[in-house]
Amino acid sequence: MRMRSYQVCRCGAPLQLVEAEVPVPTGSQVLLKVLASGVCHSDLHIWDGYYETGGGNRLDLVQRGIKLPLTMGHENVGEVVALGPDAGGVKVGDVRLVNPWIGCGVCKVCRRGDENLCLTPRNLGVFSQGGYATHLLVPHARHLFGIGKLAPHDAAPLACSGVTAFSALKKVQATLRDEPVVLIGAGGVGLMGVALARKMGAAEVIVADIDAAKREAALALGATRAIDAAAPDAAKQIQAACGGGAWAVIDFVGASQTVNLAVASIVKGGTVVVVGLFGGEVTLPTPFLPLRAMTLRGSYVGSLDDMAELLALVERSGLPQVPIRTRGLDDVSAALGDLRAGKVVGRVVLTTTDKA
Ligand SMILES: [Zn+2]
Ligand SMILES: [Zn+2]
Repeated sequence: MRMRSYQVCRCGAPLQLVEAEVPVPTGSQVLLKVLASGVCHSDLHIWDGYYETGGGNRLDLVQRGIKLPLTMGHENVGEVVALGPDAGGVKVGDVRLVNPWIGCGVCKVCRRGDENLCLTPRNLGVFSQGGYATHLLVPHARHLFGIGKLAPHDAAPLACSGVTAFSALKKVQATLRDEPVVLIGAGGVGLMGVALARKMGAAEVIVADIDAAKREAALALGATRAIDAAAPDAAKQIQAACGGGAWAVIDFVGASQTVNLAVASIVKGGTVVVVGLFGGEVTLPTPFLPLRAMTLRGSYVGSLDDMAELLALVERSGLPQVPIRTRGLDDVSAALGDLRAGKVVGRVVLTTTDKA
């Protein structure tokens, strides 16, 4: 049997179909046959090779350690097909969600439990080969999670959009039940945020997005109110909807305008969590920080503990009903193109056929 993968060989150039021998797992590695691989917006940045950092500047990803050729794809569910001699905890035939946020396991950040923030990350589909392929090597079974009765294509987005939204919501958990939470951006991660916020006990979820179709999708998932983020008085509308400013705003876009909107929407003592990597920059009068006693912080994907807690939440209270469209692995370039064109509501998940 051969392994097929779609690889970025040059930044921004079309993905190349590459065929190779199926790898043999060594050490603690586990080899999976990929069943489902979600298409994430961050793949567009990885593919392009940079993040916008505002003022026309770019953060170059190849310089940050991304090596080409790279198989992207970090939202994967697969079936275990082979184990390295030192691997344990799973057996051939097990279906598992793969935590892609893999660190060295020994640096001070990893030791704190935040392997997703490792100083020398090995994230699957970013720094090492991911799931836009028929097969996927995972370095250790501790990154594999059971999915119970969930279908692989339903579970796959939990690995990135799910855990990203969950981890960000956990950072504002103190006010989640009693105060409205404001989510800016209702793309794949934002919609996951809406659904998870309700499952985590949020009584009121206010969504702001510039796109009417995405606002509709957010309302269908349980948002209690949707505000047009492009309205000139969007911040005023959010403040009014929160009864005088928001305690917690999560920005799933991360553009200059959205972070400014978030900062303008909070009440004194409020918190802004930036999650999105759209790119941009903000200028913040420094007295705002003390005078408004505000917190501005980031959140990047989630830890292994977050992943376990998220899967337990989903088991208890059901899957977030984010719209999911499945396509074949060979449609990966078209799926990324649709995402770039803003044509995707919810999530696209690639499913592998047995052609290989
Ligand atoms: Zn992602
Ligand atoms: Zn580390």
